[in-house]
Amino acid sequence: MIELSPSYQSARAAFLAQAEAKGYAIENNLLQGYRGIDDELLYCDIARKGHDGNNKCIVISSGLHGVEGYCGSGVQHQLLLQETLEHLPQDISVIFIHAFNPYGFSFSKRVNENNVDMNRNFMDYTLQIPLDDDIKEFNETVFPLQWKGSHLSDVFEAVYQYREQRGVSQLQTVLTGGQYHYPGGIFYGGTEPQWTRKLWDRVCHELAAEFEHVVHIDIHTGLGENGDCELMYLGGNQDKIKDSVIEWFGEDIVKIPGTEGSTSKPITGHLASHLDNFNVNNIAIALEFGTQDIDHVLVSLINDSWLQANPDCSDSERRRIIQTVRDAFMTPSDEWQTRIWQQSKLFVEQAVAGLKAL
Ligand SMILES: [Zn+2]
Repeated sequence: MIELSPSYQSARAAFLAQAEAKGYAIENNLLQGYRGIDDELLYCDIARKGHDGNNKCIVISSGLHGVEGYCGSGVQHQLLLQETLEHLPQDISVIFIHAFNPYGFSFSKRVNENNVDMNRNFMDYTLQIPLDDDIKEFNETVFPLQWKGSHLSDVFEAVYQYREQRGVSQLQTVLTGGQYHYPGGIFYGGTEPQWTRKLWDRVCHELAAEFEHVVHIDIHTGLGENGDCELMYLGGNQDKIKDSVIEWFGEDIVKIPGTEGSTSKPITGHLASHLDNFNVNNIAIALEFGTQDIDHVLVSLINDSWLQANPDCSDSERRRIIQTVRDAFMTPSDEWQTRIWQQSKLFVEQAVAGLKAL
């Protein structure tokens, strides 16, 4: 089973120690100007292993949504520990990206240091991003215009009223699709590329320069039944890519966000789409592990948005909210941790087998 570290710092230390022991070359990318919850420095660490001239690569990343990194880091650590990726053919390189969003990881938040959802930040900001009517209505009539000084109970009363009238599915659609006009709200994609995006952009350049084929597996939590894994196909710039994905993992397994059978609504500006801008064949998938029902998960994020704007609240309130968010994105039980590992191992092995055959 995977281990869930108690903090970003301990997760990072465990990952680095194991990557080093297995002979990976490690690059530490410092998020300048910020410190973590224990005043620690914040890094996104990249570990690479392979040979010059390799033309294929598997990339496994964690923590794009901060707090989801506890699970993602646990998977990465276990992949290293179990040597799942140790005996690959000579032409396949491995890259681990640990804690894409270290600030969110450290503070147990889904968003980054600017309240930006990093899986909505990959937009073309030279274009005007239109404001959807439903998102406008929700953010201007249900959510408080000023989160600072608002009462959490009032916020929830308005949200529950909306859910009562429109249903949970519509609530999920209006909240999670991504929005670019309400910086204090949730699933906010920002108005400019964030640090993590710049980092991924640089890595994409390197991937395109070095490899012909890249498989990218990004690890997430918070959608689906507890312990289940949804394998989301998020793109790839070749016509036959989707067929390959189905062949590798099975038709019943592969889901596309926003279509039948997926727990995710359609989303904008996600990370996986970015590699399509580079001259490299790529297959981008996300593993989404279920924790609590969507209602609980959304409640935790609304709590967190409120905390972001009201940092002077009582210590007990702060601790309650942080715990609510952690509970929404990981389940510390042997059964959950075992299921996460079994499914991660299987999908990574299937991806490697597919990559080998290319
Ligand atoms: Zn996520």
